[in-house]
Amino acid sequence: MDNLLVKETLTRDELSFLISLEGVERDYFLKSVGNKYVETLGKKVYFRGLVEFSNYCTKDCYYCGIRKSNNHSERYDIDDQAIIEAAIFAHENKYGSLVLQSGERSDTTFTSRITNLLKAIKKATNGELGITISLGEQSEEVYREWFEAGAHRYLLRIESSNKELYYKIHPEDEKHNFETRINCLKTLQKIGYQTGTGVMIGLPLQSYEQLADDLLFFKDMNIDMVGMGPFIEHTETPLYAHKDILWPLQRRFDVSLNMIAALRLLMPDINIAAATALQAIDPMGREKALRYGANVIMPNITPTLHRKDYTLYENKPCTDEGAEDCSNCLSIRVEMAGREIGYSEWGDSKHYFKRQ
Ligand code: SAM
Ligand code: SF4
Repeated sequence: MDNLLVKETLTRDELSFLISLEGVERDYFLKSVGNKYVETLGKKVYFRGLVEFSNYCTKDCYYCGIRKSNNHSERYDIDDQAIIEAAIFAHENKYGSLVLQSGERSDTTFTSRITNLLKAIKKATNGELGITISLGEQSEEVYREWFEAGAHRYLLRIESSNKELYYKIHPEDEKHNFETRINCLKTLQKIGYQTGTGVMIGLPLQSYEQLADDLLFFKDMNIDMVGMGPFIEHTETPLYAHKDILWPLQRRFDVSLNMIAALRLLMPDINIAAATALQAIDPMGREKALRYGANVIMPNITPTLHRKDYTLYENKPCTDEGAEDCSNCLSIRVEMAGREIGYSEWGDSKHYFKRQ
């Protein structure tokens, strides 16, 4: 094991081995990565205030509770003023950055609205707030327009880098095309975004080898940021039919932490987010991720009224807390994890500046 902790790079077999670790060996691995990462990257953790502003979606991913065919989902779209107020809240509370996320839409009413919203947020926060967006697949023109309007990071998870598995969790049609998703990531990089991707962990029939390939995919694609976490089933989705063959929730959680630690070894200078889904399984899930390699956390600052409707999976955390409750409890938790908060800092991916 010790030789894997200092190797320049890791093979598929070595990564699969690390991802599958259990018991005392796993404890040793996680703690060693945690210590090594503090020595090289420091203790800083960065906040991104997350606003899940709309759950309208034109896509039908088989795993997601807000997919367009879920007629039981209560749809909402938060008005621009409330989104700008959430951005001001993030700025005043020294969060450094904001993440705007929603279901996927590509109509011009939506895309122009986002352009204007980005400009308004920049103005309202004196250009001081970093802006990440996560609004799905769009044309190059739209990505460019949003970049010029002030967004500088983009999150678009590949969900699984294994094409066969990708089509088990998405309809096989033009709207859910694997190559299009990869091309979107390349376009985002070309435009100049700090580009983030990620996968779900514990999907039906997913193997450790496929997860190892996901990590190698991030490296091959020269990705700047990764957000990955456990898959959690939702009753109103097609994947729910496979609930009996899923790993137990605790295993999905443990493997997610192993993935984060293994990725930190493989890509020491990228940003890694402690995904919200970790907290749906373990109340201290995100803080544990911060101990073992993650350096970004995304407090949910969506106006409380609508939080319960952004239900991607069951038992989604923090759906009934106000933004302030969330930020107070988070700062204590980050400190308990032995990390320091980089208040008011954008906390950009160091990797991004090296690949420019
Ligand atoms: N619509 C955009 C997209 O798909 O890129 C952004 C919003 S989407 C809800 C954000 C992420 O939620 C997805 O990339 C997916 O990985 C995650 N997600 C959706 N359903 C999930 C589930 N059942 N369990 C865990 N994560 C889920
Ligand atoms: Fe829509 Fe994103 Fe959910 Fe897919 S994952 S259904 S694109 S919100």
